[in-house]
Amino acid sequence: MSATEQQRQDLQQLIDDAGRIAVLTGAGMSTESGIPDFRSVDGLWSRDLSLADVVSIDYFRRAPAAFWQAFREIFRIKLVGDYQPNDGHRFLAALEQAGKEVTILTQNIDGLHGRAGNRRVLEMHGTLLSASCPDCETPHTLDYVQQHEVPPCRRCGAVLKPDVVLYGEAVPLIDVAFQAALNADLLLVMGSSLEVSPVNLIPLEAARAGIPCALINYTPTRFDSLFDLCIQAGIGETCRGLHA
Ligand code: NAD
Ligand code: ZN
Repeated sequence: MSATEQQRQDLQQLIDDAGRIAVLTGAGMSTESGIPDFRSVDGLWSRDLSLADVVSIDYFRRAPAAFWQAFREIFRIKLVGDYQPNDGHRFLAALEQAGKEVTILTQNIDGLHGRAGNRRVLEMHGTLLSASCPDCETPHTLDYVQQHEVPPCRRCGAVLKPDVVLYGEAVPLIDVAFQAALNADLLLVMGSSLEVSPVNLIPLEAARAGIPCALINYTPTRFDSLFDLCIQAGIGETCRGLHA
């Protein structure tokens, strides 16, 4: 489904009227760059454990080797360097270049917003592009991670943990993210099922505070009624119909 002409105009108006825009993005933001979202991966690769069981701090602690094997597969670590920003990412970078104060609150760990050129990006769920030692905190690059099946800390030998917020871990940037949303003139949500907590409470709080909220997502979410505008369409094609 595509956005109607009316929806496109309404979204353009909301954007034109806003000086400060907070954009909450999810995995749907990057599917057009070739990175599958969780909805398409869940259930496909394991019958015994859910994705949330595997990408969890408990599993990492219990079975680090199995964790790394699954983590590599789920996030296609080998391909990470090949992915490129798409028209959706580029539109958000263009908004910043056009003089808007844009803060991206992303659940994505692929680094594509930064590569598209946005400077204010809160990676709420961390990044795939590095890993750290859980014991001595020594940081390691993705290059190093890619050279080892179960990457050991260079300094102390402990198994590294990806710099990704795993299920069961706190989201360290969550307060800053709420602040950014509550300081904005517009909250735009793109490509998220809004199923992951506490991030999915950001639009709830923003709507309660009277901040206009718009959503671009293929499928309905259980928070759709909060939004002033819900566009059920592709992010790329919708953004190509807008100007910064
Ligand atoms: P999700 O997979 O739960 O939901 C993605 C949503 O995007 C779906 O509702 C889908 O209908 C929609 N969508 C997919 N492609 C779209 C497109 N081109 N245009 C419009 N809508 C589109 O994603 P989530 O809400 O971000 O939650 C999943 C969790 O998984 C997050 O915590 C995130 O950290 C992690 N994750 C990240 C990546 C990444 O970094 N690219 C990829 C997979 C999962
Ligand atoms: Zn160490």
